[in-house]
Amino acid sequence: MSVPSSDKSRIRSQKVTDGVATLVVDATGLSTGERSALEARLRASALAEPGVRDVRIALTASKRGRTLIAIGSGKGGVGKSTLAANLAVAMARMGHRVGLIDADIYGPSQPRLLGTSERPEAKDKQLIPVKAHGVKLLSVGQLVSEGHALAWRGPMASGALTQLVEGDWGDADILIIDLPPGTGDVQLSLIQKSRPVGAVIVSTPQDLSLIDATRAIDLFRKTDVPVLGIIENMAGYQCPHCGEASDPFGSGGAEAAAAELGIAFLGRLPLSASLRVASDAGEPPAAGDGPAAAAFADLARKVLAAVEPAGR
Ligand code: ADP
Repeated sequence: MSVPSSDKSRIRSQKVTDGVATLVVDATGLSTGERSALEARLRASALAEPGVRDVRIALTASKRGRTLIAIGSGKGGVGKSTLAANLAVAMARMGHRVGLIDADIYGPSQPRLLGTSERPEAKDKQLIPVKAHGVKLLSVGQLVSEGHALAWRGPMASGALTQLVEGDWGDADILIIDLPPGTGDVQLSLIQKSRPVGAVIVSTPQDLSLIDATRAIDLFRKTDVPVLGIIENMAGYQCPHCGEASDPFGSGGAEAAAAELGIAFLGRLPLSASLRVASDAGEPPAAGDGPAAAAFADLARKVLAAVEPAGR
């Protein structure tokens, strides 16, 4: 058959019986769109063969050893990194072997959130993650000295981020990737390179933040990465002194937007001074035993449940 060599290398077996061509094709690592395109190319070239009147194609994919989940947001400051850290810790507490990739070139905060200043070692040019709160971590923040503004752009950022993704993740069965906020080229190429099985979008209830979240959703749709759902952060505030509940940014906006967009709503977290204080101190609340730990465990379960149908 005359097909491009990259397509040919995916053909595991082929035969023609009574004018029917049967192909078994390995589609490992391809997105839904790429799988359809591959199938269409193979079908067309098989049909072009003399004597072939019908084509049956079986696409197979070797089971991914590891589930990569992206945490994204349309803009910074919505709590994406806080969520990524605590979801990772909560999943590790459930018995998963979890790795966390801090790809937020604009503000890599995972070393601080997980309370570690250890630097990763490199072996055979591969970075070996450090471990904190039961989670393996590689962060762009570990590649530069503290407080150094990361004015990385384009190829330089992409090169550093590839190093993190291709680190020695060992037996990790889940990798959480804390994406840079926004929807630019760095995010696009990182998603295309790392091919997450799904993405979680973090948004605050405000209108502007929601417009940004919608852009992030578009980015994932464009790259054929299923959006697992939206988490609404900083939704409502309970005064620690008088107990009165208020809604500084409104609340429920993300849930309404999710419904409108046909996307799952995974849950909400209130604005909480104790969460911020613990996060700043490198003590992720998900590692503790307060109500916040239960809330993060619940969110982690919902994210993992959403991953299953997305083709884990
Ligand atoms: P992003 O990754 O979206 O830029 P961060 O996770 O770094 O956001 O959070 C920004 C700031 O908001 C941090 O100081 C963090 O501690 C704080 N923060 C995040 N979520 C909450 C929350 N639910 N309640 C209070 N403070 C929060």
